[in-house]
Amino acid sequence: MLDMLTHPAVSGLLVMTFFGALAYKLHFVDISGLISAFVVGFTIWYTGGVVSFVIILFFFMSAGLATKMKYKEKAKQNLAQEGKGKRSWKNVFGSGIIPMMFSVGIYVTGLLPELAAAGWPFLMFGGYIGAVATTSADTLASEIGVFSKSKPRLITNLRRKVPRGTIGAISLLGEGVALFAGLFIGVLALLFAILAPGFVPAVTTKEQLIVLVPLSVLTAFIGCNLDSLFGAALQNRFVCEICGAVTDKEFHCNYETKYVGGFKSFTNMHVNLGSSGMGATLGIILGAGLFVWILGGLFFWIVASSSS
Ligand SMILES: [Zn+2]
Repeated sequence: MLDMLTHPAVSGLLVMTFFGALAYKLHFVDISGLISAFVVGFTIWYTGGVVSFVIILFFFMSAGLATKMKYKEKAKQNLAQEGKGKRSWKNVFGSGIIPMMFSVGIYVTGLLPELAAAGWPFLMFGGYIGAVATTSADTLASEIGVFSKSKPRLITNLRRKVPRGTIGAISLLGEGVALFAGLFIGVLALLFAILAPGFVPAVTTKEQLIVLVPLSVLTAFIGCNLDSLFGAALQNRFVCEICGAVTDKEFHCNYETKYVGGFKSFTNMHVNLGSSGMGATLGIILGAGLFVWILGGLFFWIVASSSS
């Protein structure tokens, strides 16, 4: 009996049922979101191990809580998620599909002796962390960043202050939240790898242990800002003729908004998919030990953009 319970398929079903019921009870998801979260969660539990599941669970629960945080206040200012903040299958797959692919990657490369010996499961794990850190940072930064006391600035033109909720708007509070999300995920992975290495099959060497936290913090921070940049450049956007806010919503201040630019079929879901893909790519690169190049590139970019 106990043997059966510890089989990952059985324990996975039990754990998913528990957290699925909890998430539904807390109104984090609607029915379509619940079913897709079940699929994503179970696949990650089965393939990426307990640590991968705990990491995506942190995203899922913190995103749910942050979305609910002062929901009425956000709704009054048209800053809230639609559907009373319940996430649908679009949200769940938009943020879960890329992590799920990398989780399967951890499993498959772990099964093949040659790839496993060459450290591929860790690269896949780096991609996994990169994707989840980016998505967590982006979601938490937008849901909490709107409470920033000072007006946010536009990522494509930092001198310009814009109304809250503007596509591509960034604030110090949001940037801080993004860093915190990355730090939290990195520390979580590190603690698991030290205290329960059996739950973290992808991490096998000391170098990999050392890389975990900086990898997570950097991917969260860079990925989250790339998301804002993509959003500002590509996403379909509408302007509110009442308050002047540029949003992705067709209604603002109780009036219909006017389409002003971006690709019409390019929605927030596409932006999120793109940025979590970039976060994953960055995670793999960092996992491969190319920190020096990234930090060097970042340094020159800051120098170049501050002198122009
Ligand atoms: Zn408005």
